[in-house]
Amino acid sequence: MKKRLLLIFILLMFTIPAFSGNLLFIKPSGQDYVEIGPGDPYYDKMLSIVNSSPELQQVVLNYERTQLRKKARLVKDMKAKGASTKNIRLVMKNYKIKPMILNLTSNSGGSAMGVKNFVVNTVGPGNTQRRETFNKTPMIKLSMNGETVLSGDISNLVRSIAHEAGHCVMANEYRGSFPASTYYGQSHWRNMVSDGGLALAEGWAEMNGPYFSQDKLFKTPVANGDFAFHDNKESLKTYAEMMNTEGVVSSIFWDIANTIPNGYDKCLEVFEKTQPGDMSAFIDVYKQTFPTDNDEIFKIMTINTLGANISTNAQKVYSDFKAGNISKTGYIEWLNDTMQQEWIDLGNNEELEPIEDHKEVKQDEEYILEIVQPETIRKVPVSVGNELKDPEFFPKRGI
Ligand SMILES: [Zn+2]
Repeated sequence: MKKRLLLIFILLMFTIPAFSGNLLFIKPSGQDYVEIGPGDPYYDKMLSIVNSSPELQQVVLNYERTQLRKKARLVKDMKAKGASTKNIRLVMKNYKIKPMILNLTSNSGGSAMGVKNFVVNTVGPGNTQRRETFNKTPMIKLSMNGETVLSGDISNLVRSIAHEAGHCVMANEYRGSFPASTYYGQSHWRNMVSDGGLALAEGWAEMNGPYFSQDKLFKTPVANGDFAFHDNKESLKTYAEMMNTEGVVSSIFWDIANTIPNGYDKCLEVFEKTQPGDMSAFIDVYKQTFPTDNDEIFKIMTINTLGANISTNAQKVYSDFKAGNISKTGYIEWLNDTMQQEWIDLGNNEELEPIEDHKEVKQDEEYILEIVQPETIRKVPVSVGNELKDPEFFPKRGI
């Protein structure tokens, strides 16, 4: 009986098809890249990891899903603006869903991502060589001799790839760009106070890591909201400092994605709508776009900033609590009272300017023109000396 079960199990193992998500494995080759396949040790290693990790498969499928949703949103917008059926069909036909591109390098550093213009040489049917040009396309660099890969800790590797994939998802919503920051290319960490742009980009990516990997080591502090304090935890950051801290931003995104229905996708819609430059701007646009979530958003902001989103007293009350002048119960009561109050956002007192209709339409027209170019991802015969013109988005080391 046991033997029969084992046989059935083995048969099942062989009948489970390999994961066939939209992935492209490449490696550097001179100025360009070359597609790699079976027989390449890095390819074989990564493919076996992908096949054995349902979490990583979810990351890949999510990347495709977010692009399909974006395409559907675009068509909906076009219809609302009275675009012709012909134009809509043209966009549907030419709007390419990008594969998740993993650049497997022999480097020993960490993983990174960048939005680039680049060429991949591939071998097509009948051994024909092709050059495929990718414009403004996110690419994940995986250092195959880096600690994350070599350690064999799959959960941590999945978290790392999910983090970079989070950047890719955001880049697509920001139309190949990112919130501005002077910190790109420098080292950064979750509790670091940087600027609004870096905190928004890294906070989003940092949430994506444990969101897909469920890696406890990373999930717990993000879910707990451990980054609202200065390093010693004796004092609370100011609201402005919190909005410039990637860890705080990741905790806010975590709560939106995990407690608001369709929260993850709503974030993407906000990214795409105005490409906000920091978390305060993001929250403003979110409230405008999904007003029925206002109460939930207020609660999330108050919990994650320990009341600093509404009261300039938050730092002092926390210090009093740490010094023993206020009991734990008293402190919790203060927080609860704060949550009952009206929301006055301290981060951005300016009223958000209403979006001018013609401005939005113009932007969309340009965008549509850009994506209806059938050559967005084009295949051309091999030619020598086809230089890349545009600089890489992150010239130093990615983010
Ligand atoms: Zn990052």
